[in-house]
Amino acid sequence: MIILVDQITESPKKIRFGESIGQLNQATDLVRDYRFPDFMDVDVVFYRSGRELFFEGSFRGRLEGNCGRCLKSYSFALQKNFSFALTPDPFSARSKELNRDEMGLSFYAGQEVDLSPFIREQVLLALPTRPLCKEGCRGLCAGCGADLNLEPCRCAAAAVDPRMAPFRNLKLNR
Ligand SMILES: [Zn+2]
Ligand SMILES: [Zn+2]
Repeated sequence: MIILVDQITESPKKIRFGESIGQLNQATDLVRDYRFPDFMDVDVVFYRSGRELFFEGSFRGRLEGNCGRCLKSYSFALQKNFSFALTPDPFSARSKELNRDEMGLSFYAGQEVDLSPFIREQVLLALPTRPLCKEGCRGLCAGCGADLNLEPCRCAAAAVDPRMAPFRNLKLNR
């Protein structure tokens, strides 16, 4: 979503739109864990104070995750509030090599503000560090592969009953 700087007035305006985020599915480091929808629903209120621009809003959407423990895919809601301010870029006519992040400030330059990169970044920040289908997912047994949410581990049954071990030793010693 692009907002023209001219249209940002001192009286707040509210807009709602669908932000296209499908390209996040091409981020190779995430493709194993999450599947993003084509759009996130976004609400934004924006206004200015002098030359400073303010944005407050939220987004929400449904993602698919692949549980890191039981490997099942599951659907979950992602939502986050955000707010930020932009000041005119004092360096836009000069060196572009200054690291703006280090200065802790965000700037705008030109006639428009593109919210898309910001929203994509916020979506990534809102992701859980690890996909889990539920808080207490018990995962798969590393030995027998049983889904421990649904069935007991079969490792013990498959192993030889330890109470039988002395008899086997007897046989061997004979
Ligand atoms: Zn799970
Ligand atoms: Zn097992």
